[in-house]
Amino acid sequence: MDLFAIVDDVITFDVAWYFSLVIAGVIGVAITTAANLATTVYLHRGLSHRALTFSRPARGAFRLALWLTTGIRPRQWVAVHRKHHAHTDTVEDPHSPVIHGWWKVQVRNYTMYRRAARDVANTERFAKDLQADRLDRVLFDHALLGLGTGVGILMLLFGPLIAVVAAVVHLNYYIAANSAVNAIGHHFGRRPYDNSATNLQWLALLTAGEGFHNNHHAAPTSAKLAHRWYEIDLGWFLIKPMTWLRLARVRLDELKLVSGSRTSTSPT
Ligand SMILES: [Zn+2]
Ligand SMILES: [Zn+2]
Repeated sequence: MDLFAIVDDVITFDVAWYFSLVIAGVIGVAITTAANLATTVYLHRGLSHRALTFSRPARGAFRLALWLTTGIRPRQWVAVHRKHHAHTDTVEDPHSPVIHGWWKVQVRNYTMYRRAARDVANTERFAKDLQADRLDRVLFDHALLGLGTGVGILMLLFGPLIAVVAAVVHLNYYIAANSAVNAIGHHFGRRPYDNSATNLQWLALLTAGEGFHNNHHAAPTSAKLAHRWYEIDLGWFLIKPMTWLRLARVRLDELKLVSGSRTSTSPT
């Protein structure tokens, strides 16, 4: 083999290697987008706040998607989140930047969530309407089995390199973006309503709408997190066609602001 052939082989290998990484990155972002949609539409707007209800096939699809991509137990997530609304930005809040500082919540939100999620008394108190069923006991309560199955499917479809890189991209994106809602979304950004949460369009784009956290604290039972014509809520773009297909039903047609919630006069 002459020198030119060796150089040619190295270049071809490099291009194939970088192309695989780009493909893996795109797949990782696509998986996080699906996980974010399931988190905001099903776990948050649906289960936690009862802003919408779902047909049986839709519930099954969301549960499966969350099990494969996050390993989250819905009733634990709901309990932690309802506690956040009940005690927002007090010492009882599981992840308040007012108490801990926004950066600490950003980097430690995962462990803060885990600690609160493991508190059985908290789950029984805040999510007693969500009892584990047989599918939970057999499948969905086993996080590592779900995540392992998810990675296994990726390996079968794309091979080990793309599967592992896509899984790492997804894991980091999902944890960082959802931590940002609790950390940055209670510190930086606009506050059109008079509450401690904030609105950030860029964060809303990264989290399928969750970045409109100030809107959400003002009207938690609203299925739509965008309150103004220029706000883009990807979660709502999934909910709308689901209602047309009778896969979901929105409970309230109009915004219902929580008592005491009013438009803020301060710019941030
Ligand atoms: Zn909040
Ligand atoms: Zn909420």
